[in-house]
Amino acid sequence: MNTYKKFTERMQKIADINNSAALLQWDQEVYMPPKSAGRRAQQLSTLAGLAHELFTADDTGHLLDELANADLSEAEKANVSYTKAEYDKYKKVPKEFVEKTSAAVSKAFQSWNNAKQQKNFALYAPDLEALLELKLQECEYLGYEEHPYNAQLDIYEKNMTVDQLEVLFGQVKARLFPFIEKIYHAEQVSDELMYQHFDKDKQWDYGIEILKQIGYDLDAGRQDVSSHPFTTNFSATDVRVTTRIDENNLSEMLWSTIHEGGHALYEQGLKDENYGLPSGAYLTLGMHESQSRLWENNVGRSLNFWQGNFARLQEVFPSQLGKHNANDFFKAMNKVQPSPIRTNADELTYHFHVLIRYEIEKELFEKKLKVADLKDKWNAMYKQYLGLDIKNDAEGVLQDIHWSHGSFGYFPTYSIGSFYAAQFYAQAVQDIPGVEDDIRAKNPAKLLEWLQKNIHQYGRRYKADELCKRVTGEILNFDYFMRYIEEKYASIYDLSGVGV
Ligand SMILES: [Zn+2]
Repeated sequence: MNTYKKFTERMQKIADINNSAALLQWDQEVYMPPKSAGRRAQQLSTLAGLAHELFTADDTGHLLDELANADLSEAEKANVSYTKAEYDKYKKVPKEFVEKTSAAVSKAFQSWNNAKQQKNFALYAPDLEALLELKLQECEYLGYEEHPYNAQLDIYEKNMTVDQLEVLFGQVKARLFPFIEKIYHAEQVSDELMYQHFDKDKQWDYGIEILKQIGYDLDAGRQDVSSHPFTTNFSATDVRVTTRIDENNLSEMLWSTIHEGGHALYEQGLKDENYGLPSGAYLTLGMHESQSRLWENNVGRSLNFWQGNFARLQEVFPSQLGKHNANDFFKAMNKVQPSPIRTNADELTYHFHVLIRYEIEKELFEKKLKVADLKDKWNAMYKQYLGLDIKNDAEGVLQDIHWSHGSFGYFPTYSIGSFYAAQFYAQAVQDIPGVEDDIRAKNPAKLLEWLQKNIHQYGRRYKADELCKRVTGEILNFDYFMRYIEEKYASIYDLSGVGV
């Protein structure tokens, strides 16, 4: 057998283990009975250890060394060099450490769950602290330049650094903040129509209709309900989404369904023949998020989309929406209002939720902030950036699952994703004649094809900066996001005479 084939087989084996673990995790959040938590943690830890062992084995290293000078295609070379860099990095992390971290994550997750129910951060703080200790140690194993937090960022957003984020969030503060202030001073719009009684089953069915419309393949996936909507995949042919439904708030289901649908389209757009290889995996989380945000915000919260879809939604909910029109609905779904909960935030104040988490994480990794002081810091920052008083820990520092998963450095990818989304969407409108008419006609297939062709099909072939440049002619540029929101929100709020 040739060496590249051996390499592919090995990578697929590792993917098999990781994807089996992903299925167990999916089950943990969707169906698992609570008593099974302990054993499930053990099962996940075993699989994490096995995958790590196989990946960092000397045999993998030998294959990669042999392939370094082999006669390979450009795509094969890219797979080998990406894997070699990961191999060198993870080789430095002992298997025992991986298992220990996996067990600490399971423990922290259970205790976060419990603490959130009891609205008491103190119940979770010790487990979070133990997990943070391990993550700090992980930075040392993985290596970093300048800032330990860079080692964590690199896990989710390859090559991203604190220096780059300082520039990006500097823009958020300098340009987005005053823009939102302007909106606060303008005449407000009403979103009351969202808060009526909307039957659960009807919402579910409508969500499926929307998923099909944007091109989600239900023969290569399924939707379930979970308390935190998410997307997971076990290959490009099994990409699952979850949603949540609130009978008294239509927004909840609509945006989580379209958002997760957008993530799923990316995974379904990867090439199954590249299974297990870097070219068969999503590029970075920011790139992943750009796909969910593009469908959620640039498409799903646009007037075009609802000019096409509102009549059908009225048919499903005639008594609730009969009196309204697409424009009312468009305004309601884009109302800007600070909220203590990140996942309920509008697409503008959202970035302050991320900024707060980013600044906190950075300080935790600089050891300037202690876990014991995290809650007070959180509450103070919500007051500072969003003018909010946090009533209890559940709607404050305990609201997100991420830290309990050991995911630090993950939050910034949400903002990065929104900014990429605006840039890609602007390019798609230029490249695809009549694409907004297609969206209005409930047929965005050409947009999906464009995304598959320009982004999805490549997996990890190019670096994020390179891919962005190939698609749009330049690297990530915050101007696109500002341009997008200035145009959109000027059609929702009368900002002409508003001073700050
Ligand atoms: Zn997302």
